[in-house]
Amino acid sequence: MHELSIADAIVRIATAHAGGRQIETIEVKVGYLRQVVPDALEFAFVLVAEGTEAQGAQLLLEEVPAAGICRRCGIESELPGFPLACEACGSLDVELVRGEELLVDALTMEGEVPSGRS
Ligand SMILES: [Zn+2]
Repeated sequence: MHELSIADAIVRIATAHAGGRQIETIEVKVGYLRQVVPDALEFAFVLVAEGTEAQGAQLLLEEVPAAGICRRCGIESELPGFPLACEACGSLDVELVRGEELLVDALTMEGEVPSGRS
């Protein structure tokens, strides 16, 4: 279950930034190519977060669509699914530019006024 290792990474990053404060929300960007099952990740997150500052925090997942630049025709296109093929010419020789992300994008901590972002 690779969601467990992803959840573990998220909790480690989040708690490293929390400075001992209770975390309320964690915004995570996950690339499509990570093939994360959101329900499985949330379940794993609850397990991993137990006993840490991230316990009870809300996990907000944003999926980043895959995109690549075609090595044959040079066009950048979104890659909505497998196989990852260029939209313009159908070539499979595509250099990925997005879709492998796994990053903690934003955190809110208890007692903190949320910054202007929505
Ligand atoms: Zn192409």
